[in-house]
Amino acid sequence: MLNFRNTNIFFLLLLLFTVGVHLQKGVPVFVYPILLVAYSLVVFYGCYFIDSNFFLPVVCAANTTHKKIALSFDDGPAELYTPETLRILQDQDIKAAFFCIGNRIPGNEQILTRIHSEGHLVGNHSHSHHFWFDLFSAEKMQQDLARMDKATMSAIQVKPLLFRPPYGVTNPNLARAIKRGGYTPVGWSVRSLDTVKQDPGKLLSKMQAQLKPGAIYLFHDTSKVMLEILPQFISAVKAAGYEIVRLDKMLNLKPYA
Ligand SMILES: [Zn+2]
Repeated sequence: MLNFRNTNIFFLLLLLFTVGVHLQKGVPVFVYPILLVAYSLVVFYGCYFIDSNFFLPVVCAANTTHKKIALSFDDGPAELYTPETLRILQDQDIKAAFFCIGNRIPGNEQILTRIHSEGHLVGNHSHSHHFWFDLFSAEKMQQDLARMDKATMSAIQVKPLLFRPPYGVTNPNLARAIKRGGYTPVGWSVRSLDTVKQDPGKLLSKMQAQLKPGAIYLFHDTSKVMLEILPQFISAVKAAGYEIVRLDKMLNLKPYA
């Protein structure tokens, strides 16, 4: 299985073998940079592909043949678009997951309360969502996640157990922080890229094309184009005979401590 531990063992053995051959017969010096580049590429793949399960197991879809999917919205609570997202979900009688950023809660407590009281799931998406979050130490990451928990607890009195890594990046420090904090990491199987400027029609057909049992869709409640396609997307999913269920229920995970 391709994971961090096995990769380290493999490259260490390969390095020892290369050094052995080098000492006995000699090898061209460029072999070492090639080894380093190959190792870096594998680790890069592990960091940037959340469904690689490279550093830790991350749930990215449900293993089911039943026609059901879950919707998730990252980066709120956002004054501009979260209330409208909630209105659309309420109109369509859909429960979704909101992976919230802790430092966006102060001032938006009412929105977070609405998310929770309308039956949606609140997950941890870090406190800072810092650009350099992936370079934090394990301890600093753990403190960051705990601050988000604290902000959530003071607003809606629950402590999230489901965590979605900022930018979807995982690494050994984050694996440690997740383990120490007792979180379940949750990824996605369909990434809308709705924060990148996109044509609504193209985005809608791209989302529909990836519909399959157990899928977890990633949207952002900070995206205008998401709002433009959400009603039609939900209608299309329903018309295809799919049920949209809350993420924790689809995955059979405990949402709060
Ligand atoms: Zn995010």
